[in-house]
Amino acid sequence: MSTGSWENNVRKVVPYTPGEQPKEKVIKLNTNENPYPPSPKVKRILDEYNCDKMRLYPDPDATVLVDAIAERYNVKPSQVFVGVGSDDVISVAFLTFFNSEKPVLFPDITYSFYDVWADVYRIPFVQKPLTADFKIDPADYKCENGGIIFPNPNAPTGCEESLSMIEDIVKANPDSVVIIDEAYVDFGAESALSLIDKYENLLVIQTFSKSRSMAGMRIGYAIGSEKLIKYMNDVKFSINSYTMTPLTQLCGAEAIKDEEYFVSTVKKIVETREYSKKKLAELGFEFTDSKSNFIFASHKSKPASEIFAALKEKKIFVRYWNKPRINNHLRITVGTPEEMDELFAALKEILK
Ligand code: PMP
Repeated sequence: MSTGSWENNVRKVVPYTPGEQPKEKVIKLNTNENPYPPSPKVKRILDEYNCDKMRLYPDPDATVLVDAIAERYNVKPSQVFVGVGSDDVISVAFLTFFNSEKPVLFPDITYSFYDVWADVYRIPFVQKPLTADFKIDPADYKCENGGIIFPNPNAPTGCEESLSMIEDIVKANPDSVVIIDEAYVDFGAESALSLIDKYENLLVIQTFSKSRSMAGMRIGYAIGSEKLIKYMNDVKFSINSYTMTPLTQLCGAEAIKDEEYFVSTVKKIVETREYSKKKLAELGFEFTDSKSNFIFASHKSKPASEIFAALKEKKIFVRYWNKPRINNHLRITVGTPEEMDELFAALKEILK
C-alpha cells in the first residue's frame, strides 16, 4: 500500500446526514415527503414516454420546465433557474453568491445542510440564535455579511416569518444576496416572490419535493432578477450543462400546470396538520404553530429521544436530532389521516 501524503490535499468535509430511507415498509413521517401521489398528468407522461429519446442529451436550458414555472408565477423565463431538487439550486446559489470574506448569516436552528455547503465551499458563516420561541430577530441580520439565507417557514421549527420582516432584512442588505428558502411555503406561509421585482438581490427558492409530491424526481427552482439568474446559470454551465433529464423536464412541466390537483393536495395536508395539532395537544405535546407539512413537537414529560426510539420499534419513523436546543423535539411529517391515526394510537401506548 502506498504511504504518500496525497490525503493532505483532499477536500475533507463532514457531510449532511439525510433522513433515513428504510428498505422495509414503515409509516414514514421522517423526511417531509408528500403522502399523496403526483398529479395524474405526470403518470400520463411516464406511460407515453418514448425511450428512444434517451439516446439524446436533454435541452440544457430545460425550456419546457422553465417556461411552465415562469407562466405559473407570472415572471419571465429569464428569471427562473432550475436544478436537481432545491438542494442543487441552493448549492449553486451558495457557490455563486456567497463569495466574500465576510460571513454568511443563517439561524442556529435551521436546515442542517446550510453549514455543510458553507463548509464544502469554504465560505465563512455565522449562525444567529433564534429567539426562545424559535423566531428570527431581524436585528441579527443588520450587520456586515457576505450573504443571508433562511427558510420560510423555517425548518425544522415550521415557524413562519412575516413578509414585512423579510422585506426589512432585504432592504437593510443591498450589498449582499438574500435567499429565502421556501421549500414549505405552499402549506401556509406568505411567499417573498411578490418582492423580487423590487429587490434585485432577493432570490426565492422553491421545490417540487413537498407540495407537488415529486421528491424522487428531484426538481427545484429559483426565481429572482434576471441578473441573479444569469449569474447562477453561468456557474451551472461551468459545472454540468445537463442537470435535468428530458423526463424530469416534461413531468415537472405537467405537474406545475395542474393547479387544481396541487390546490386539493395541499388543502388535504393542511387539514390533516390542523387535526394532528389537536390530537398531539390531547396527548400532552407542545408545538410551534407550524405552517409547513410537519409539526415540531416536544412532550411535557417524556423525552423526545425515548419517544423516537419507541416509535421506531413500532415501525413509525419520525425525525430526531441530538443537537443543542432541539434535542427534546420530534419533527413529525404530516401523512395521510390514516397514517396519523396510527401514529396517535402508538403514541397513546408509548405514553401510557
Ligand atoms: N430546504 C429545506 C428547508 C428543506 O427542508 C429541504 C428538504 N430536505 C430542502 C431545502 C431540499 O429539498 P429538495 O432538494 O428535495 O428540493
